[in-house]
Amino acid sequence: MITIEKIELRCPVCEKEFQSEKIVDKIPVYRLKTDLHPQILGGPSPFQFMIHTCPECGYTKTADGFKQEPQTYANIALVMFLESEVTPRFRWLNNSITASEKYEAYAKIREFEGAGPRIIADHFLAAAWCCVEEGDTEGERYFRRLAAQKYHDALASFDEMEIAETFAITYLVGELWRRVGDNNKALVWFNKVLAFESRLGEDCQWIIDACRKQMTNPTEWL
Ligand SMILES: [Zn+2]
Repeated sequence: MITIEKIELRCPVCEKEFQSEKIVDKIPVYRLKTDLHPQILGGPSPFQFMIHTCPECGYTKTADGFKQEPQTYANIALVMFLESEVTPRFRWLNNSITASEKYEAYAKIREFEGAGPRIIADHFLAAAWCCVEEGDTEGERYFRRLAAQKYHDALASFDEMEIAETFAITYLVGELWRRVGDNNKALVWFNKVLAFESRLGEDCQWIIDACRKQMTNPTEWL
């Protein structure tokens, strides 16, 4: 179970003050799915409480992202970006934004602010996990594809990553393609890991095992 508390936030873009909810303690993950989707025992999913959305303009960030002073943070380019890319859909949804839509807005805003593909991929993956929890199959496939493409971009651009992380993400791209039904692409990515099998250390053994399992006898849990 997670513990949640109410927080007061002020939007640094439009200065709207609103209440949201955040997680107080560390998230008690007890197991991972094969796409690294963390599961907790009982209670609501934690993802909806990890980022917050301004009910006026759709600006979405973690709680720390709301700490900037409006006069120093808000800039005309960001306001224009929100007005064209985030706020209209947010208004169309009449403030009833789902957790997956929050993560989509978050990814767009972070990308606008210059975050690299590795970070954006994580946000799209979180959006896909939220879609699973929301029962939105179409959205899940959409965000899995976006996440796979962004992780691919991150690997191609040699974004700073440890060896184990590089191979974990290579496996994850394969697993994302497998989960959207593109087995050919999945095999290509799993084989990219297995091609280096003899050179990988013990810390990568779980990645090798996962690739082999998902290629031959796929399971839901890692
Ligand atoms: Zn706002």
